[in-house]
Amino acid sequence: MSAGPIDLDCNATTRPLSEVVQAMTHAMRDLHHNPSSLHKPGQSARAELERARAIVAELIHARPDEIVFTASATESIVSALASAVRQYARSGQACAVVTSKLEHAAVIESLQEIAKDTSIEIRYLDHNTQGSIDVQSLESCFASCEHEHLPVAIATVHAANNETGVVQPVREIAEICAKHNVLFHTDATQLIGKLPCDVQELGVDMLSFSAHKFHGPRGAGAMYVRKGMKLIPFLPGAQESGRRGGTENVPACIGASVACDHAKTWLADSTKRTERVQLREHLEQQLKAEIAGIVIHGGDLPDERRLWNTVNAAIPGAPAEQMLVMLSEQNICASAGAACSSGSIEPSRVISALGLSEDVLNSSIRFSFDRFTTKTEIDRAVPIITSCAARLRSFN
Ligand code: PLP
Repeated sequence: MSAGPIDLDCNATTRPLSEVVQAMTHAMRDLHHNPSSLHKPGQSARAELERARAIVAELIHARPDEIVFTASATESIVSALASAVRQYARSGQACAVVTSKLEHAAVIESLQEIAKDTSIEIRYLDHNTQGSIDVQSLESCFASCEHEHLPVAIATVHAANNETGVVQPVREIAEICAKHNVLFHTDATQLIGKLPCDVQELGVDMLSFSAHKFHGPRGAGAMYVRKGMKLIPFLPGAQESGRRGGTENVPACIGASVACDHAKTWLADSTKRTERVQLREHLEQQLKAEIAGIVIHGGDLPDERRLWNTVNAAIPGAPAEQMLVMLSEQNICASAGAACSSGSIEPSRVISALGLSEDVLNSSIRFSFDRFTTKTEIDRAVPIITSCAARLRSFN
């Protein structure tokens, strides 16, 4: 029997835990009533939905009533950003939104879409070539907005990068935003479930994430909205306390809560994370030893500023698209950009924004693993990666 694929594309999505599948199967069969109905089965579905909300809240140290269930991180992000901008747009006021060029398409494209109907100016923060946001540029950005009498509706910066795995200084950014009375949202889609997250300690106003990135189901997103904050719903309706219309997807919310509960237990044992960091180091050391001139994006940053699961490596002379095809033929899943844009020949927008040479840009590949990836799988993948790179370098 041939071995299955080695999945090194886990930042795109992860396999749902069997406990998640079981809980969702049960919910689909036995909890199909509408949680807004007043009858008993409806109220049972409501009770389970609220239990799920409390578990999701616990993972990020929020209150249950601060969690709004959505269908994806993308929906959470667009809801948070649109709400902030509409508070100004409704009175015909122009405003700025502060972000970075390293955000996921869910942020960048949401803002571009919002900008079509409103008077917003998008201001970008600086970053270095490792992909780390320059916190001081936030102060200068706020100062220039103030000088121009342009109110800042919201600042949005991701917590961890989907392509480089770089963890951003969210707490420092939140502190500066609070000092200037500016709302702060973070896209924590790649951080949640991989590293501990405490919304109180971080000081964020809003936070978005998605369960399928940490072994939950797809179609289950969540948005943290700090207590007392006004949210203009993106989808109107009475559900989710008037913050997100549409009948709640109870099985998906329950599936998300099971994934959150497992993540909480996993995160409580820091030796498990240390062991994952060691696996990433092992992968990097092997690649560096075998492939001359390899460049690891964000590789110079300390461990606390990197996700344990992501290695984005440029192999100059081995074009990424050709590498991906060859790796796929050898049963290895990897990626050369965000999952949503893979298949396109465009190099990754995030890696492009790092300002590196064409050769580095066009040869960057993302390897991302999960909580269950084994050293044996990494040891099987490395010789395949190195031989594909050597073959491509000999042609080019
Ligand atoms: N933000 C980041 C950083 C992501 O990595 C992704 C998905 O890749 C998203 C947002 C969008 O998540 P979803 O597909 O669940 O909407």
